[in-house]
Amino acid sequence: MRVDVLTLFPEMFEGVFGSSILGKAQEKGIIHLNAVNFRDYSGNKHHMVDDTPYGGGGGMVLKPEPIFNAVESLLLSDPAQGQAESPRPPRIILMCPQGETFTQKKAEELAREDRLIFICGHYEGYDERIREHLVTDELSIGDYVLTGGEVPAMVVIDSVARLLPGVLGNETSAVTDSFSTGLLEYPHYTRPAEFRDYKVPDILLSGHHANVADWRRKEALRRTWQRRPDLLDHAELSAKDLKWLAEIKLENL
Ligand code: SAH
Repeated sequence: MRVDVLTLFPEMFEGVFGSSILGKAQEKGIIHLNAVNFRDYSGNKHHMVDDTPYGGGGGMVLKPEPIFNAVESLLLSDPAQGQAESPRPPRIILMCPQGETFTQKKAEELAREDRLIFICGHYEGYDERIREHLVTDELSIGDYVLTGGEVPAMVVIDSVARLLPGVLGNETSAVTDSFSTGLLEYPHYTRPAEFRDYKVPDILLSGHHANVADWRRKEALRRTWQRRPDLLDHAELSAKDLKWLAEIKLENL
C-alpha cells in the first residue's frame, strides 16, 4: 500500500512513520508512507496556501490550487513500488470534523485499497470546491475539534496499516481485537499467576483449550454488555452466546 499525506507540517509525521510497527512495516516493504508539504504546490511566488473568506468574517480558508496541484502531481508521479497493471483510483481522504466518523469497519475497507491520499487542514476551513470536486471520502475521528488534520490522519493510517497482512507479528492478533469481532476483547493475564493476592482465573491456568475459548467468549460478551451494550445489537450471536448473555445478566443482578 502506498500512503501520501498532504500537510503543512510534514515533520509531524517523522516519529510516527519511522517508529515501532509502522517503521517496521515500511522496512518490510508492506507499506510506503510519504508526507508532502502542499505549500510546495501553491503555484504562487509567495507560497500562499490560504486566503480570507469570500463574504467576509473571521478565519482563513485553504485555497483550492495548492491541494488540487499536489494531488494531481502525486497521481502523475510513479508509484514507489511496482503496482498492478491497472491500479484502482486512489481514495482521496479529507480529514475533517464534519466527515463520516471513523470506525474499525472503515479501517477494514481502507485496508483493501492500494493507495490512499490524506489531506490535512490546519487551524482553518477548506474551500468547498476541494470537498466537492477532489475528495472521495471525508473522515472525522470523533465529535471534537483538533488544531489540525495531522493527528487524525495518523490515527487512521495507524489503524489501517496494522490490518495489512504481515504488519503485526502475530497474524491472528488483529482477528480477536475489540470491534473486529463485533465485541470488545476479553480480559488478558500474564505471569505471575498470583500478584499481591490477586489471582489469575483458574481456567486460564488449566491448559484446557476449549474451556479457555469458552471463558474468553463469555468474558468478551460480559465486557461488551457492561461497557458497550449498543454493540450487541449488531454483533453476530450464536445460541450459546445468547445463553451466556442471559447468565451474565443474572450474575450481575
Ligand atoms: N472550522 C472547522 C474546524 C477546523 S479544525 C469546522 O468547524 O469544521 C482544523 C483542521 O483540523 C480540520 O481542517 C481538520 O483537518 C482537522 N480536524 C479537527 N478535528 C478533527 C476531527 N475530529 N477529525 C478529523 N479531522 C479533524
